[in-house]
Amino acid sequence: MEKKLFQAESKRLLEMMINSIYSQKEIFLRELISNSSDAIDKIYYRALTDDSLSFDKDSYYIKVTPNKENRTLTVSDTGIGMTEDELEANLGIIAKSGSLAFKTENELKDGHDIIGQFGVGFYSAFMVADEVTVISKSLGSDEAYKWHSTGADGYTIEPTEKETVGTEITLKIKENTEEEQYDEYLEEYGLKSIIKKYSDFIRYPIKMDVIESKLKEGTENEYEEVEEEQIINSMVPIWRKNKGELTDEDYENFYSEKHYGYDKPLAHIHTSVDGAIRYNAILYIPEKTPFDYYSKEYEKGLELYSNGVLIMNKCADLLPDHFSFVKGMVDSPDLSLNISREILQHDRQLKRIANNINKKIKSELQNLLKNDRDKYVTFYESFGRQLKYGMYSDFGMNKETLQDLVMFYSSKEKKLVTLDEYVARMPEDQKYIYYASGESNERIEKLPQTELVADKGYEILYFTEDIDEFAIKMLMNYKEKEFKSVSSSDLGIDASDNEEKSETEEKADKDLFTEMKNILADKVKDVRASKRLRSHPVCFSTDGEVTIEMEKILNSMPD
Ligand code: ADP
Ligand code: MG
Repeated sequence: MEKKLFQAESKRLLEMMINSIYSQKEIFLRELISNSSDAIDKIYYRALTDDSLSFDKDSYYIKVTPNKENRTLTVSDTGIGMTEDELEANLGIIAKSGSLAFKTENELKDGHDIIGQFGVGFYSAFMVADEVTVISKSLGSDEAYKWHSTGADGYTIEPTEKETVGTEITLKIKENTEEEQYDEYLEEYGLKSIIKKYSDFIRYPIKMDVIESKLKEGTENEYEEVEEEQIINSMVPIWRKNKGELTDEDYENFYSEKHYGYDKPLAHIHTSVDGAIRYNAILYIPEKTPFDYYSKEYEKGLELYSNGVLIMNKCADLLPDHFSFVKGMVDSPDLSLNISREILQHDRQLKRIANNINKKIKSELQNLLKNDRDKYVTFYESFGRQLKYGMYSDFGMNKETLQDLVMFYSSKEKKLVTLDEYVARMPEDQKYIYYASGESNERIEKLPQTELVADKGYEILYFTEDIDEFAIKMLMNYKEKEFKSVSSSDLGIDASDNEEKSETEEKADKDLFTEMKNILADKVKDVRASKRLRSHPVCFSTDGEVTIEMEKILNSMPD
């Protein structure tokens, strides 16, 4: 048997790749399963154009079989298989992708599911195995061949026996070392969870023999261990199903299966876009704030799939910060993946998907606001603060998106209202949108500064969160109405109905004010007679941009 050597460059490439392309070893299984799925797909595509072939979906599958005693893991499939030449070309030449060639030859463009393209995934097996054996029989051939390699030093190919068409790949799993554990790749549980994580939506069944504890027949409490073949993956991803066939419960189940949260989502968005860029997405508005949401630990992002294969757990680029609470997934066949299929090239496609998603979320929230206010208020109580942060950061870039979504407590309605509702109710002579800042609604209600505005019958928005006033300052105005703090010195209200004072009274006031100013020294800028007060004797007011409340917050912030 002749031993063939990798070319020098290939040898280096293999070493490099085995050690550096992938950040996680467990993805070798994703790669092998993807290859098997591609191999089955190839029969499927052949059958489309070749009348002598039929494709009966039920007879195609992938099987994963661990063997603890021999420390082997076998991934077999009933796919198209490889001839001797194909074994040589596809597994002997690194970065040669038979699957990419297949796509080009068969002019598969839209909607195909073939995953392979880089011609490196197979070698990821060497991250967990010292030895890899591939036995394959190609469709339409009587001969089977065995490819065998112990890694960088080359491979052998020899004839062998195999009954059925397809490929069987056996890995001799490495021994545990102090730094690395490999045993999970031999354990039923470990393998199942890796399959679920990365390959749940492979279109063909991924089978495993699983030991189940079952009630012994004819007994009531005697159990026996039974081995049975189970399908591990869910196959048809919910996002590829027809919206009409899916119930709210289906979406809720998906939410909890995927561990997006432990709550029940308030709303979901299911969208399929088929245009310049194609993608499916399922997005959720959660009900409850995750415990770490307003902390540095919280990581925003959506799951990202390419043709049903998980590429990224939390793709942050898909979500703007102001909607960082949204959970869900995006699947697109049009992404430019890098070679490890773990990281994306930051490209236009991703930006476009992100833009669309931003709009979708906004319109879903507006929908909720319009059609199910209670739910919206629940949402707002959980995540409203984030919307306001969003308004404040980015220098008002997201003004358009967010200004219709924020709510504040209203002095008139005694509940949360939107800016739109406020402006719609404004009497004609009211110039500004008035707000008052304070610790709580109760405290604000007692503020002397609110008296005049309230007396005029104008509505006041209560700002009880630190961010409120800062966010509004970014907004500057809403529907051409400026915001005005009730403590600002110029309220734009004509208060001339106050009775006139006599000259001597004014003189007495003036002396009093000068005296007060002297005592308060640098604590206040001025002491003036106020026309705004009704039942309270004094109040603070501000002239500049920064109100007293804002100043308090700024002063409390660490430098
Ligand atoms: P890619 O999948 O990106 O093409 P891989 O290194 O994973 O790269 O695989 C290289 C090639 O080997 C594939 O393109 C395919 O032609 C062939 N191949 C790998 N695994 C199988 C398999 N299970 N059945 C048939 N062909 C396979
Ligand atoms: Mg591959």
